[in-house]
Amino acid sequence: MRPESNIMFVPVNRPKLDGNEKKYLNECIDTGWISSDGPFVKKFEEKMSNALDREFGVAVSNGSVALELALQALDLKAGGEVIVPSFTIISCGNAIIKSGLKPIFIDCSKDDLNSTPKMIEDAISSKTVAIMVVHLYGHPCDMDKIESIAKNYNLKLIEDAAEMHGQYYKDRPCGSFGDVSTLSFYPNKHVTTGEGGMVLTNNKDLMEKIRFYMNLCFGKGDSRYLHYDIGSNYRFTNLQAAVGLAQVESLKKTVLRKREIGSLYNKGLSNIDYLKTPIEFLEYSENIYWVYPITINGDINFVKSFKSYLEDSGIGHRSFFTPLHLQPCYKNIIDQNNILPNCEELYKFGLYIPCGNGITDEEVDYVIKKIKKFNFK
Ligand SMILES: *Cc1c(COP(=O)(O)O)cnc(C)c1O
Repeated sequence: MRPESNIMFVPVNRPKLDGNEKKYLNECIDTGWISSDGPFVKKFEEKMSNALDREFGVAVSNGSVALELALQALDLKAGGEVIVPSFTIISCGNAIIKSGLKPIFIDCSKDDLNSTPKMIEDAISSKTVAIMVVHLYGHPCDMDKIESIAKNYNLKLIEDAAEMHGQYYKDRPCGSFGDVSTLSFYPNKHVTTGEGGMVLTNNKDLMEKIRFYMNLCFGKGDSRYLHYDIGSNYRFTNLQAAVGLAQVESLKKTVLRKREIGSLYNKGLSNIDYLKTPIEFLEYSENIYWVYPITINGDINFVKSFKSYLEDSGIGHRSFFTPLHLQPCYKNIIDQNNILPNCEELYKFGLYIPCGNGITDEEVDYVIKKIKKFNFK
């Protein structure tokens, strides 16, 4: 027990599963429907795609394969270039490379952490086939402008909305932009199913291709075991969908709570001179604090000392993404001499602190109090 509080450890994320999750899961067990053929899968797909203003949603095993399926279904010209932020999860770069395409990594804004329309447009070449837009940490990208760039240059637009369930760009939900959008349902996302993901589109052909590839390209009817293409098993189970359905029912509440946590931190951590807190409002959005990112104004030793202070205080934290253009696994694939100054700085000086949906006010208060007491030695 810590002397000044009964808090032992505040994890960087704790999911909240206090709606109909248990009830729906029990239904699966009582009825024996546990595979991907169970009724919750369709219900979850419909509920989620409706909530995000999409015609079709295909639930899959996780957000990483959702990106792979999106690219596979778009059937882009081999070797074509896909513009993608460097400041994102490895899944984005991997999906592009695995699809036989070439990632063109671009920088991001130091303020809202997203790539700007100008950064995207500047990266377009005669080989560009698509833009993969990723909304990061809490605000959407500037989608009106990005949509018109995609249209003007005749490029496919893939939207990775894994961190944005329940977020809006102006009055349009994230997950509704471009040719195809993807989601993840990992436990730190606003809708979780443990593991899981979804591909969303308004295009029926695309949806059918995604369903085909995510289920081993089975044939129809009597020809079930006749396969005309090479697919994978990326199916989603009824058990996951049971949890997911309950989670979507709570989505509005989740977003309200995330904003509440965000404003508690904003208030509590303002006026600390070495620490930059996230922007609450952009002209087109209100932050939903998928995570609560802070950047440290100090040198590397300062950051190190701050992080070990958090550890000693039992406060979970996570560094920002290591930029993809610097990843050792891409060493022989891309030219790594490219300098992208903003994301290179962010990853050295940025971290995020506990902000899961399940965090209590008391825990937030503890984190704030502790951070206020930090002294660099
Ligand atoms: C979480 C996440 C993913 C990957 O999802 P998984 O379900 O963990 O595979 C993809 N893109 C972004 C932006 C994410 O945050």
